[in-house]
Amino acid sequence: STYLLNDRFVKDDEISISIEDRGYYFGDGVYEVIRVYGGTLFTAEEHIARLYESAAKIRMQLPYGEEEMKHKIEQLVRDNGIDEGHVYVQATRGAAPRVHQFPGEDIVPVITGYTKAYPATASQHEPVTLKSVEDIRWMRCDIKSLNLLANVMAKQEAYEEGHYEALLHRSGTVTEGSSSNMFGVKDGVIHTHPVSNFILNGITRRVVMECCTELDQPVIEEPMALEDVYNMDEFFMTSTTNGIVPVSAIDGKQIGDGRPGPVTEALMAAFDRKLPVPVES
Ligand code: PMP
Repeated sequence: STYLLNDRFVKDDEISISIEDRGYYFGDGVYEVIRVYGGTLFTAEEHIARLYESAAKIRMQLPYGEEEMKHKIEQLVRDNGIDEGHVYVQATRGAAPRVHQFPGEDIVPVITGYTKAYPATASQHEPVTLKSVEDIRWMRCDIKSLNLLANVMAKQEAYEEGHYEALLHRSGTVTEGSSSNMFGVKDGVIHTHPVSNFILNGITRRVVMECCTELDQPVIEEPMALEDVYNMDEFFMTSTTNGIVPVSAIDGKQIGDGRPGPVTEALMAAFDRKLPVPVES
């Protein structure tokens, strides 16, 4: 398959990345994952805007603009014949001898991208279980940074114990997942962490909030206490890769009857209606 390398489309044997790339040394870069449904990118503008926002937040200027990035990503999807799957794109601050401070102006960011094909499973996800893990990340979780060590550690801890995702909390206050946003439902009201420096402002979260407005579904954007999530009627998580995923248990305690509840199901249906091509369910 074809990869994006800066402004070119190349085969993997044509790619060479410097051993001195700051992504490799420091995780000094940002990234995005964009879903493809029926050959069409979903919420591409939002993802690309967030990529440039993340870059700006780490004071990194990408060598070309959002329009051009969109065209490149579309071409990559076309070239690789992706019908269902996703595009990954990242930008590092470039290659330079290892010192922490930024390199000179002559050093330009390195952009790479790939596609991955997999079947569309939009909102057909079986319920999953979560394990709560202390959120030890830094205070700028709003930046979609390549520095994912704390996320990796949290996910692995959950995974090793047979759980699908880590439910991150800062000293008992739920933030988000290792690669997802988290939502609880109690007495017909959705609870989720407000957009702040403690979470990534998920694009799927934004689509879900839009669905809530359309459905007149009340939402309270306030942090949940970990001790309260066990008594929620419903719980679900959202991400680009998986859409809306119902949660059946947290730390071994069953949520509701363990099946997707009415609020989750209504949102899954509303979400599916927003996808470029209706997915069979
Ligand atoms: N939070 C974190 C930490 C993530 O890595 C992700 C997935 N990239 C999300 C939330 C979900 O964001 P999105 O819906 O934009 O994929």
